[in-house]
Amino acid sequence: MELTIIGCTGSFPGPNSPASCYLLTADDADGRTWRVLLDLGSGALGTLQQHIDLTQIDAVLLTHLHADHCLDLCGLHVAIKWCPSGWPVPRIPVYGPQGTNERMALAYGLESDPGMTGEFDFAAWQTGRPVQVGPFTVTPSPANHPTDEAYALRVQTTDDDGTHTLAYSGDTDSCPGLVEAAGSADLFLCEAAFHEGRDEVRDVHLTGRRAGEAAAEANAARLVLTHLPIWNDPERSAAEAREVFSGELEVVVPGATYKV
Ligand SMILES: [Zn+2]
Ligand SMILES: [Zn+2]
Repeated sequence: MELTIIGCTGSFPGPNSPASCYLLTADDADGRTWRVLLDLGSGALGTLQQHIDLTQIDAVLLTHLHADHCLDLCGLHVAIKWCPSGWPVPRIPVYGPQGTNERMALAYGLESDPGMTGEFDFAAWQTGRPVQVGPFTVTPSPANHPTDEAYALRVQTTDDDGTHTLAYSGDTDSCPGLVEAAGSADLFLCEAAFHEGRDEVRDVHLTGRRAGEAAAEANAARLVLTHLPIWNDPERSAAEAREVFSGELEVVVPGATYKV
């Protein structure tokens, strides 16, 4: 599979990147290319169109319902509902926490029934239960973040070379679900919104060091730090992780692509 960084600024869009959104593409056994989004945060819908047509989205996978991870679903709803020529493909599956339709309807000012169910086919994550989207097998694990439901996602594809694993932290502080999601991952896309010595609050976000600790405990091959807010120093985040993680390590940049 291939990962493209659409948006990676933490907590709200920055001058050079939208908030959280990651495009995953992979071919199925018949050679059909599938495209799914990990989160669709503020500002991401515009940048996404530099990479794909919106009609090519096969599913949206939401880790949680904070605005920087889900709010551009409102714009996508408009694109689908009001496309003058009619939307050419079926409703887009949206996996997320319980109540995602109601929350998005509230955000847009719609009645919750029908909300956005005309445009999206909503389904709720169930911890540990994998869902299949084309060639992607996606398993949610519980994260440690101050909202009703938040998940880390383990995404796997299998081809002639074997099984490939990408893990995405969503937003979380250290927790068993994070290590479970990242177990022996080829690439671990992990948030590092906090800095050691600056952000003392717990059960919200990881520091670079705590991301590194999770990657080391999970035996991930490659750690890619993301969700850095505008006030973080990427080199400091990487240095924190480097103290405890000896594998391949980098900080994302917008538009970058990674083969997994
Ligand atoms: Zn966030
Ligand atoms: Zn959050």
